[in-house]
Amino acid sequence: MKKFVVLTLLMTMFFPCGSQEKMMGSALKSKPKLVVGIVVDQMRYDYLTRFAAHYGEGGFKRIIREGFNCKNNHYNYIPTYTGPGHASIFTGTTPKYHGIIANHWYSKKEKKNVYCAADDSVVAVGSISESERMSPHRMLTTTFADENRLFTQMKGKTIGISIKDRGAVLPAGHTANAAYWFRGKGEGNFITSNYYMETLPQWVEDFNNSGRVESYLKVWNTLYDISTYVESGSDLNDFEAGFKGKSTATFPYDLDALKDQNSWFDIIKNTPYGNSLVADFAIEAIKNEALGKDDATDVLTVSFSSTDYIGHNFGVNSKEIQDTYLRLDKDLERLLLTLDAEVGEGNYTLFLTADHGAVEVPKYLQSLKIPAGYVNYSDRKKKFQEFLKETYGTADIIENISNNQIFFNKAKLKELGLNRYEVEQALVDEQISYPNVAKVYTAKAMTSTNFTTGIEALLQNGFNQKRSGDVIIVDDIAHIAYGRTGSTHGSGLNYDTHVPLLFFGAGIKHGETLNKTVIPDIAPTISALLGISFPNGATGRPLGFVMD
Ligand code: ZN
Ligand code: ZN
Ligand code: ZN
Repeated sequence: MKKFVVLTLLMTMFFPCGSQEKMMGSALKSKPKLVVGIVVDQMRYDYLTRFAAHYGEGGFKRIIREGFNCKNNHYNYIPTYTGPGHASIFTGTTPKYHGIIANHWYSKKEKKNVYCAADDSVVAVGSISESERMSPHRMLTTTFADENRLFTQMKGKTIGISIKDRGAVLPAGHTANAAYWFRGKGEGNFITSNYYMETLPQWVEDFNNSGRVESYLKVWNTLYDISTYVESGSDLNDFEAGFKGKSTATFPYDLDALKDQNSWFDIIKNTPYGNSLVADFAIEAIKNEALGKDDATDVLTVSFSSTDYIGHNFGVNSKEIQDTYLRLDKDLERLLLTLDAEVGEGNYTLFLTADHGAVEVPKYLQSLKIPAGYVNYSDRKKKFQEFLKETYGTADIIENISNNQIFFNKAKLKELGLNRYEVEQALVDEQISYPNVAKVYTAKAMTSTNFTTGIEALLQNGFNQKRSGDVIIVDDIAHIAYGRTGSTHGSGLNYDTHVPLLFFGAGIKHGETLNKTVIPDIAPTISALLGISFPNGATGRPLGFVMD
């Protein structure tokens, strides 16, 4: 089997045209009725291997056993955040082209901070909240689901589902029939916006009224005996935050007792039950929307967000994370069994990946003598302000600093008669002298040099000339601007870039590769499988070697 994989791989490398034809042929033979794109928020690659001894045969292991495992799959841009991650998976390109440069960023045009999925021109449907006004309008390119809609004369449906709005809205794309996300707080409902529809479908109303959400306000204890969880740190340690109202971050967690101090239904998001809830809702969507029932291929995107909240709260080495993945494995098994029953084994194609990884808690790494630490942005900013005043007489030449990018006030530069390129270079020289700054680049470098390797190439793939800043800063390895408990992500280092990529089902062969693949390869691969146009800004290449 392995030899065959290598041979096919060599063919792909040396005979790109031939393999392209082969792919198009196979697309016609085994076109899936449904494509399911699963994103596990903050899933590091090693969660597949580290917890393998505890996974059942019907979840992750089934996908690997029957499908194709790309074991060296990476993000190829900075920053590795949720919004850019979801956009890149489904558009097959990077922030340079799809424009989702962060979750929140400073808009040079609007002169204000904007959120990647927020849209003031729409209103929430199913929520009384003013803050749930979401659409994909800031994403500049199409997703493979958009191309599938165009190809099928809008007959193929697209549904996006997640706890997080951005995890539902961006993957589903511009032409989606629906994107549903979870409104917690005092509401506890799946909602949408009038970008998609004016009222919720009856099955969504029924789901919200079924008491399913409330049923998860129960005790969270480990799925198996905690003494068998030997692949994670001790439950009680200095590296976890936990919940308000409970003095230690240790099992069990009584969610009903803790909900009042932890934003009511929001507490479900912060436990594995948030993933179970998304699986429940996705199963209802498959049944009630008749996904994969006719000849026009449908697309379902499912993003599991609770993994990310739990990683931020407890860190990547916690018992809580281990339990979350063992439970997610069960939810995946349920989802696969539903797809087998409703769509039929061999009639659907599924892929599973993540929107980014996460770093080990730096304080934990420090305790093991591994270089790591915390960045103090407010100290850095203070020092920078002093430098600006001393050098230019005013700090007003800077309009905004966010996501490790410095944005110029171009009018002020002009007024003072300053050359922007000279100022860019002066700021590079200044910033590189600060603690925990590893590298600094100018916008000019990003737009005038073609970087092919290293951190520079990742920055360039994340650099959108219209939206990104004028000076870009890279922090030291394993250094984060974060509290002393829990993990975060955003860098171009392996702990943030290396994520699972599994393909499974119709048109996919069994195998694995250690050859490097990158996130933008996913959408062109699915497009090739369907025989449809690639997303309009796609820069990845189809992975011919995963196809039957
Ligand atoms: Zn994320
Ligand atoms: Zn714990
Ligand atoms: Zn996160």
